[in-house]
Amino acid sequence: MITISGGVISKQIDTSVTYKFKCEKCGIVDDKESSVNVTLGVTEIATKKCSNCGNIQIVKLKHAELQTQ
Ligand SMILES: [Zn+2]
Repeated sequence: MITISGGVISKQIDTSVTYKFKCEKCGIVDDKESSVNVTLGVTEIATKKCSNCGNIQIVKLKHAELQTQ
């Protein structure tokens, strides 16, 4: 299971994730998509600057194993 903070996932195929930056300050979603391969147990971090309000934000993508309940 891949989770994201600071962005929204637009496409996911296996561990390959396409996401868009979402500004937590003004709420705008960037048009530009980024693709990243998220390895299990590894947190991918990217720094993005909002084109609307200039807020610098960290995008984190985390791939954790599904928890069995
Ligand atoms: Zn913003």
